[in-house]
Amino acid sequence: MTTEESEKFSPALADRVAVVTGAGRGIGRGIARCLARAGADLVILDQAEDRIAAVVAEVEGLGRRGFGVSADVARADDVKRVVRETLGRFGKIDILVNNAGVLVVRRMIEQTEEDWDRVLDVNLKGMFLCSREVLPEMIARRHGAIVNIASIAAFHYTVPHVPYAASKAGVVALTRDLAYEVGRHGIRVNAIAPGPIETPMARIASEEQRQRIAGNVPLGRLGQPEDIGNAVVFLASDAASFITGATLPVSGGADLHVA
Ligand code: NAD
Repeated sequence: MTTEESEKFSPALADRVAVVTGAGRGIGRGIARCLARAGADLVILDQAEDRIAAVVAEVEGLGRRGFGVSADVARADDVKRVVRETLGRFGKIDILVNNAGVLVVRRMIEQTEEDWDRVLDVNLKGMFLCSREVLPEMIARRHGAIVNIASIAAFHYTVPHVPYAASKAGVVALTRDLAYEVGRHGIRVNAIAPGPIETPMARIASEEQRQRIAGNVPLGRLGQPEDIGNAVVFLASDAASFITGATLPVSGGADLHVA
């Protein structure tokens, strides 16, 4: 094969190392699959230890290396350990996907202080801790892409979840400011704002509920984890080498209409 031919056939993320938080199920698991198909080796981070092995097996089934770690992104010690172990095993981190998130749907007057703290700790502080920990090594190599999972709830009312919406608006601001700060070091930081995606978090209990939600999406269906995974592959790849600080809606158009 000539160099030209091998370039043509090499996948977008060949031999890159990616850390995906909250990769044990749902969107994170879909992101891990898409990144592995695009050629990346994967660190599968999740707080729920029992979810990790199946995803590692999936990644290995796609011909890539998978390394599972149980950790809480909201705990600085856990995050430090994961980054240390990842660098020990793979020697570098090219891609960080800050995906881990929690949701509490309740009216404001029923949200507890613990609800607020946990949602903000996981969804926002976790992103701060993970990004801060991978950056020194990325800066030293002048190479890296961070992709943060926000939500259309950062921009529009969807359901009663004030702490969640506030955390996701914070993700958009964190993404923009961090992108500005680290751009000169050759690192890009972008976010994705998913619309309704069919995962355990979305708690779709019946076909009737699925149809109702899909009916409010101009493209006529619920999103699947791979819809987000494909966008992550793009933003993490050299095809997006001039894109930074952006938040890309991946929503089927669910956020386009103001009644
Ligand atoms: P999910 O609940 O199905 O999966 C989330 C995973 O993250 C779980 O495996 C969980 O164990 C893990 N996790 C939770 N807290 C963690 C922590 N502190 N440390 C490490 N891992 C932790 O959720 P999902 O629907 O896949 O959501 C993934 C991301 O996408 C979240 O940030 C969420 O806010 C966002 N999002 C989801 C939707 C949707 O419709 N599903 C829409 C917009 C945005």
